Amino acid sequence: MNVVLLGPPASGKGTQAKLLADRGFLHLSTGDMLRAERNACTDLGCRIATALDAGELVSDELVTELIRQRLSGQHVNVVFDGYPRTVKQAASLDSLLASFAQTVDVAIALTVDTHLLLSRMTKRYCEQGRSDDNPDSLRRRLQSYDEMTSQLFPYYRKRGVLVEIDGMPQVDVVSSQIAAHIGRYQ
Ligand code: AMP
Repeated sequence: MNVVLLGPPASGKGTQAKLLADRGFLHLSTGDMLRAERNACTDLGCRIATALDAGELVSDELVTELIRQRLSGQHVNVVFDGYPRTVKQAASLDSLLASFAQTVDVAIALTVDTHLLLSRMTKRYCEQGRSDDNPDSLRRRLQSYDEMTSQLFPYYRKRGVLVEIDGMPQVDVVSSQIAAHIGRYQ
C-alpha cells in the first residue's frame, strides 16, 4: 500500500515514517534525499543548497524525479514523507503510481498547533543544528505549507483517502492511531 504523510514541518512526519519503515515500509523522504545531496556536495546539492537553507521548496520536477528513481513496480508498502507538497507533485505521484497500476491508498495528515511546531523546531535547531530550522527559514516553511501543501487536503479528501490525526500526543499514541488506520487497508 502507498501511504502519504502530510503535516507541517516538525509535525512528526519523519518520526512516524521511520516507525513505519521498522514495520517494513519503504521510507521515501524527499527532505532526506535533498539533504544527503547537499551534504555530499554533489552538483545537485550545490544547486539546491540556497533554497534548502532558506526553507523554499525546490522544483516539482526535481523532487518527482528523485521519487521516480527510487520507485519500482516491485514495491509493496511505501510511505511518502514530505512528498507530495504541491498539487502538481500529487498529480505526478498519481501518474507514477498508475504506471504500476497502484494508487495513494491513504493520506495521513498530522495536525499540530503552530505554538508547538515552533517550540519543536527551535529545540531541533538548538539540538541538531539543522540549518533550515532557523527562524527565517522556519517562517517560510510554515508559509509554504499553508499556501501550497494544505491544498492537498481537499485533493485527497475528495478521493476519500484523507485521514486527519492529532499529532500533538506522545509519539507512541500517534503511531498507534496511524497503525489502526493503516491496518484497515492491509
Ligand atoms: P523536510 O525534511 O521534508 O522538511 O524538507 C526539507 C526541505 O527540503 C524543504 O524545506 C524544502 O526546501 C525541500 N523539500 C523537501 N521535500 C520537498 C518537496 N516535496 N518539494 C519541494 N521541496 C521539498
